[in-house]
Amino acid sequence: MRRAELDDPSKVRIEAQHADGSRRWLECKQLVDASGRDGLLARKFEMRVRNRHHQSAAAYSHYTGVPRREGEREGNISIYWFDHGWLWFIPLAGDLMSVGAVCRTDYFRARNVSIEQFLDDTISRAPEAAERMRTATRVEPVRAASNYSYQARRLSGPNYLLIGDAYVFVDPVFSSGVHFALQSAVLAADVIAARLRSPATARAKLGKMKRQMKRGLATMSWLIYRFPNPVMRHLFLAPRDLWGVERTIVSILSGDVFEGRGVAWRYRLFKLIYAGHKLWFKLGGPTTLTSQPAEPTGTPRTALGA
Ligand SMILES: Cc1cc2nc3c(=O)[nH]c(=O)nc-3n(C[C@H](O)[C@H](O)[C@H](O)COP(=O)(O)OP(=O)(O)OC[C@H]3O[C@@H](n4cnc5c(N)ncnc54)[C@H](O)[C@@H]3O)c2cc1C
Repeated sequence: MRRAELDDPSKVRIEAQHADGSRRWLECKQLVDASGRDGLLARKFEMRVRNRHHQSAAAYSHYTGVPRREGEREGNISIYWFDHGWLWFIPLAGDLMSVGAVCRTDYFRARNVSIEQFLDDTISRAPEAAERMRTATRVEPVRAASNYSYQARRLSGPNYLLIGDAYVFVDPVFSSGVHFALQSAVLAADVIAARLRSPATARAKLGKMKRQMKRGLATMSWLIYRFPNPVMRHLFLAPRDLWGVERTIVSILSGDVFEGRGVAWRYRLFKLIYAGHKLWFKLGGPTTLTSQPAEPTGTPRTALGA
């Protein structure tokens, strides 16, 4: 799709371009913008706002020859913290491994080497990750994304809706982008169906979508913003299922953030535990805090590896 005309609330005109380059105008009643980071409508209406609370950058590529975890954990993602951020290792099909670094923008901007060298240097800051990369071969160019966190000021208009990255993106961690993309698509389908078949209920459906997206974003963002800091790292690397709190956090990280049923009080309890630990850290905290503590017998080496 090249552009959309939305002036008439009862219909939408879009200019489509086919693979052979030919173009034609199409008409429909509702438009769902699922154009991802391109954000067709957010750009058209100049309504994309950078996230002031979360300014990160990422450099990433695909590699072969990176050893996987053993046994049933071979498909698991690994996360490694380093002093300016964290690294992901995501096993893909065959021998491919997606490896990326998410870091603070000041660290990213201060680089005076090529992006390839920057990624290599950054990986070497996490010794376990560097060890796994000893036999790796990069098979794609290194890509970079800076200040990638944003949200559109509006989720919908009378004849359109934004879903997924076209509406909002916070951070690659916890795969929240995919959670939001899928959940917003499900909710948008309800809104569109109501707008087309029973307009009297459309407002309520849109209200539900807005509420769920807001709740999901607030819950996930609270965890994402704190993920790189030592207090959260400590809690993640030494989890305790006190009154089901650990299970709740796992549930939240698996995408249970939209409805809030059953997880709300345990999530609040986790925030309290976090606040208590923050105070403890201020007062001196644990005597040693390494970026990758020793692996307890039988458990994965990284907190999110399981
Ligand atoms: C650095 C980085 C790392 C990430 N890592 C992870 C990760 O490890 N795990 C994870 O879950 N998520 C990750 N994400 C996020 C994830 O990729 C997105 O949140 C998710 O893909 C969003 O899905 P989407 O369908 O909204 O958009 P997309 O997957 O981007 O899909 C949008 C589609 O629309 C098409 N399109 C764009 N413009 C037009 C147009 N004008 N007409 C027609 N088609 C168009 C595009 O070609 C694309 O196919 C990462 C993001 C970043 C920035």
